[in-house]
Amino acid sequence: MKYVCKKCGNVYIANPEVIKCECGGGLWLDFEGKLKKSDIQQNDFTMWRYATAYPIKRENIKISFGEGLTPMATINYKNYKIMVKQDNLMPTGSFKDRGVAMVTNYLNNLGVTKFAEDSSGNGGSSFAGYCALGGIDCKIFVPAGTSQGKIAQMKVYGANLIEVEGTRADVANEAMKSIGGSIYVGHNWHPLFVHGVKSVAYEMWEQNGFKAPNNVVCVAGNGSIVTGVYLGFKELLNSGEIDKMPKIYGIQADNCNTLYREFIGDTIDFEPAPTIAEGISISRPTKLKEVVDLVKETNGKFISVTETEIKNALLEIGKLGFYIEPTSATGFAGLNKLIDENTINQNEETAIIISGNGLKATDKIMKLL
Ligand SMILES: [Zn+2]
Repeated sequence: MKYVCKKCGNVYIANPEVIKCECGGGLWLDFEGKLKKSDIQQNDFTMWRYATAYPIKRENIKISFGEGLTPMATINYKNYKIMVKQDNLMPTGSFKDRGVAMVTNYLNNLGVTKFAEDSSGNGGSSFAGYCALGGIDCKIFVPAGTSQGKIAQMKVYGANLIEVEGTRADVANEAMKSIGGSIYVGHNWHPLFVHGVKSVAYEMWEQNGFKAPNNVVCVAGNGSIVTGVYLGFKELLNSGEIDKMPKIYGIQADNCNTLYREFIGDTIDFEPAPTIAEGISISRPTKLKEVVDLVKETNGKFISVTETEIKNALLEIGKLGFYIEPTSATGFAGLNKLIDENTINQNEETAIIISGNGLKATDKIMKLL
């Protein structure tokens, strides 16, 4: 397997030590999955039923909770028929499990037994869970002062937590130092991560009667859901299984909206402010221009929403029975805008992905009540 940098054109042979380009750019796996309806393994009730489209063979998936095939509900939302893909119900409570399952198995098959990740949220919890299942040593570098509530899940999984003083970038730099022989697995960087996330597109396609919805709404921080959704549907398009791409809408919080700024041509040189949507509080996405271009190609767009809009959306969707984390509520705040602006129509099929479980953010949600 090879990794490619789309910024400078560098090509690398895939190797656990290589995670970003020398130019600072994010790397892409040089791989296109192919999936036909007839390729689906009907007796496999996990995301691995689409294994022909992945860079790792099914028989080499050794560390698995049986992840994937999360429920998709069709609800009446403000007189729109909305499909709600519930990745809050993944094994560790977020969509990250799709990508982490792929990366963990890839590295484990190459004999890597010590992982290092930088995260204070869902990415860390997911790696901690998969490492626990696979008997892999797991170090998670977290910003100093991270609340205990947020790291309880990682601790229970038995991860080794290391607090780092400084900025979010300082935390990542520490994690990359291979302390004690560990390999940096950073989910925002690893080229195989989005090839696990793309399974969400295959599932939405199958659960919608083998059709692509017209619109897919996703929250965006680093842009891995946006990228995964794009990749999955693009592969289905190239395989002739769908005849057009859904429009992809990436939703960001006003307080940290680099992708949105890049999309509208505004400066990305700004001071991010704290947001309750902490899972998408990423001021320097690793593949900024590339992710913006993917969304443009689908004729979708980025939308930015206020803290009040996020809070209101969380309480509104809760009244319909969905307990989701504030980061995921950002998606519904964006959906509200798409409806108010008549960007999406009532006769179209619109899907939204819930990225994470409300139970992960109980302390934050208590403050909103
Ligand atoms: Zn490069």
